[in-house]
Amino acid sequence: MKKRVAVLAGDGIGKEVTNAATAVLDAIGRRFHHEFEWVHGVLGGAALDQAGHPIPEETIRKCEESDAILLGAIGGPKWDHYPKELRPEKGLLQLRKHFELSVNLRPVQAYKTLLASSPLKEEVAEGVDLVFVRELTGGLYFGEPSYHTDEEAVDTLVYKREEIERVVRFAFEMAQQRRKKVSSVDKANVLESSRLWRKIVEEIAAEYPDVEYEHMLVDSTAMKLITSPASFDVIVTENMFGDILSDEASVICGSLGMLPSASLRADGFGLYEPVHGSAPDIAGQNKANPLGAILSGAMMLRTAFGMTQEADAIEEAVKKVLEDGFSTGEFKSLGGKVLTTTEMTEKVINEIESEL
Ligand code: ATP
Ligand code: MG
Repeated sequence: MKKRVAVLAGDGIGKEVTNAATAVLDAIGRRFHHEFEWVHGVLGGAALDQAGHPIPEETIRKCEESDAILLGAIGGPKWDHYPKELRPEKGLLQLRKHFELSVNLRPVQAYKTLLASSPLKEEVAEGVDLVFVRELTGGLYFGEPSYHTDEEAVDTLVYKREEIERVVRFAFEMAQQRRKKVSSVDKANVLESSRLWRKIVEEIAAEYPDVEYEHMLVDSTAMKLITSPASFDVIVTENMFGDILSDEASVICGSLGMLPSASLRADGFGLYEPVHGSAPDIAGQNKANPLGAILSGAMMLRTAFGMTQEADAIEEAVKKVLEDGFSTGEFKSLGGKVLTTTEMTEKVINEIESEL
């Protein structure tokens, strides 16, 4: 099956980690007889340098003509002096908006050999395998009116039934493929929007009798993510709560560099990117952990192309390499075998090819 993917490497380590991801996906293509066509485009600081705009028309067109988007990372101190509308981050926000990417997926897994680098006790972090399903285009970040004067500041939290239904249904569908548990997070003791959220969760839950669900308040969820993160399977929540809680949970596995993500449109089209930023402090040094980007590639195979076996093959290869004691520089203190970006990528590819 031939698939066309827009690759927006972006800035800093973005280029290094997307190179890693496409190399691994090419190995998958060889093993499973798929062809991937990489269409490279610029976004963020790279786009500002090249075209004077953080998201040139041509980049949008390339994405529109592709089956999925693979992104590296954007931004860095080099572009800090640009006006707000021309900041690299604006390019990503516009991309999300243009493609109506309303559901954000962020899995968090604790890998056995990396447990000692988690700020949580090893026995608490052990076995964590959860995924956030976050509403991405509604709620407090987009509600109108939104303004401030010297005397008053206003933000508006609005949710429409349709927006809630979309993300909640996605969470229940996902739970069916996993451990069949949904934790819906809100603040229904205070917020009207949360009361509607709860009502809709109950309506949709009735359609998925095989999935267990619970309502949780955001404050107690913040605690439970630290005290018993392994108890979660799928966590579904609105935009701001998801923003905060997913960053909280991202520290569990010990490095930002390990974490993949996906942002999806209602029809399933999506953008896949590692959770980390452009990490200017280590850019260009062949030190970055490519696994977050590589695992984002696996998410793309599973979610965008329905290539389950292929996605499993990547995830298993990553696990195997970690279990063999290899990791990248940020895990140096664990005393394992430290690899460069390209060495780590080669290891994962060798694992995939060893199954040929
Ligand atoms: P942004 O504002 O772009 O989201 P950020 O402040 O979240 O950026 P990152 O760029 O993600 O920051 O980097 C935070 C820290 O984590 C840096 O010290 C960086 O070196 C480290 N880091 C981020 N990604 C990786 C990676 N893939 N491999 C190794 N270290 C990483
Ligand atoms: Mg960040």
